[in-house]
Amino acid sequence: MEKTENIWMDGKLVAWEDAKIHVLTHTLHYGSGVFEGIRFYETDKGPAIFRLHDHMARLFHSASTLEMKVPYSIKELEKAVVETVKANKITSGYIRPLVYYGYGKMGLYPHGAPVNVSIAVWPWGAYLGHDAVKVKVSSFVRVHPRSFVSEAKVCGSYVNSINASLEAKREGYGEALMLDYKGFVAEGPGENVFMVKDGTLITPSLGSILPGITRNSIIQIARDEGISAAEKNITVEELKSADEVFFTGTAAEVTAIFQIDNDQIGDGNAGPITDKLKKIYLDAVHGKVKKYDRWLRYC
Ligand code: PMP
Repeated sequence: MEKTENIWMDGKLVAWEDAKIHVLTHTLHYGSGVFEGIRFYETDKGPAIFRLHDHMARLFHSASTLEMKVPYSIKELEKAVVETVKANKITSGYIRPLVYYGYGKMGLYPHGAPVNVSIAVWPWGAYLGHDAVKVKVSSFVRVHPRSFVSEAKVCGSYVNSINASLEAKREGYGEALMLDYKGFVAEGPGENVFMVKDGTLITPSLGSILPGITRNSIIQIARDEGISAAEKNITVEELKSADEVFFTGTAAEVTAIFQIDNDQIGDGNAGPITDKLKKIYLDAVHGKVKKYDRWLRYC
């Protein structure tokens, strides 16, 4: 990864090299932390953070599922994110806020351990590396919604995503696609999934998936463009016979899926609706669409 200058740790900006923690940090052992992934983009008015408040609201919701008392308000942490972006003097990149149970207490009951917060930013280009990916339907099932809170971005639950990614890459695929415990399409390891059939946009209902902020943005953009967007259960067969399929996510942005297992999607290229939504999304994050300016926090 590409280094930047400063990382915000518990209220202070420290040098990148000094952003260290004790090896007995609770979250390092048990995954008992929560995090966010946010992007900021270059615009005519300087760097702009995409949907900062929505990300921070999700972070606080995630923290509440682990009964973490975040020692800052949402407003204070939003300010800290802006401060960290400004301090690092880069015009676009990725922001990683992390709230974690720290050093001082072991055992699975986390209360008694301090709650620490860090915010790092660094340049991060195309997450999936290409404009389009081929995906493998994973043998790993998305974690059951009663095994953890699906709406929360909890560190430990990402082991499920890591297992799926390792398997997919080992077998020569660009990314995994996980099914939920009922066998319906759920999501990628770090992305939501959409399909287009006969001009309609369809994405899995909430329940076993992270309510992605990009997912929500794409649904809003589609509806604003007069494209109907539905949330429903999707089978693998339906997905494979779709006209277009794509991933959405802060890191992945909008990435077309051209193959699922051995089956090609459509004609093997990104379809027209994928291209259209991707273009509007990328214009929006770069401050080029007036009606979506409300999604931007200029720094
Ligand atoms: N699903 C999972 C499991 C994720 O980790 C992510 C990335 N946060 C997403 C979906 C996409 O969410 P967002 O659009 O908010 O980045």
